[in-house]
Amino acid sequence: MTLPGLMMRAAGAAIFSAVLLTAALAQAPLKIFDAHLHYNQEPNPFYDLDKVLEIFRRNNVTGIIATSRPNKGTHQLVDAKAPGLTVVPFIRPYRTRSDIQTWFDDPAIWDLIQSEYKRGYYRGIGEGHIYGKAAAGEQVKRIVNFAVEKDLWLHMHCDEEALLLLLGHNPKVRIIWAHTGFSTSPQRVRELMDKYPALMGELSYRGGITEGGGKLSPTWRALFASHSNRFLIGSDTWINERWFSYDGIMKTYREWLAELPQDQARRIAHENAERLFGGKIE
Ligand SMILES: [Zn+2]
Repeated sequence: MTLPGLMMRAAGAAIFSAVLLTAALAQAPLKIFDAHLHYNQEPNPFYDLDKVLEIFRRNNVTGIIATSRPNKGTHQLVDAKAPGLTVVPFIRPYRTRSDIQTWFDDPAIWDLIQSEYKRGYYRGIGEGHIYGKAAAGEQVKRIVNFAVEKDLWLHMHCDEEALLLLLGHNPKVRIIWAHTGFSTSPQRVRELMDKYPALMGELSYRGGITEGGGKLSPTWRALFASHSNRFLIGSDTWINERWFSYDGIMKTYREWLAELPQDQARRIAHENAERLFGGKIE
């Protein structure tokens, strides 16, 4: 072949690869950061670690907030150092399921938080369940102040009364509101987010986002349009059934995310979480 012929062939190959690359990028499914994940083990996990990592891979989940009851599952997710998966570990304030009822004023849980924190890699505390005036307690205030002092997020499953008490303990507290109140009106969610700039809403089990036919409701579409930098999505694998419906949960998120402008969808799917935990990810 002549030199010009070779050059044309090389140029053709370069254009062909560029076209392939563009096509691949256009088709790449949205990355997802699962911001509400439990790898519970009492005493054994529902799926072993390899299976769980495979579930993340096949759903293009590239980051997780890792929590578990007890914290052993989180240690395993951190230690796995799985390629392509950012693991952001949170201290779960529970050893067993019954701790859900008592963690907020049980001194043993304060000690648990202190000893787990010494591992050095944690970025938050939660998910913790708390309702109403229980959030006013001394130990809760101590945990809030500890979180602020150590630059940790709180991941809280709470009603609005408890949320306001948590926010009132320390103006610098940063809270991921698990389930965004389940059913708190979108208008009230908007007001709370405007008043508390460090409040993030996680959307598992959140009611009202879609309506008939799985389409986004106009109210939520409007809230995402103005506040797309304030929401996160998660699987909430709190029971085994959530692991075997994991693919379906992510598919449902992808369906309504696809109705949003791409920049909003990307923020909610993964960029917000990356922004919150960027720079210090293990
Ligand atoms: Zn949960």
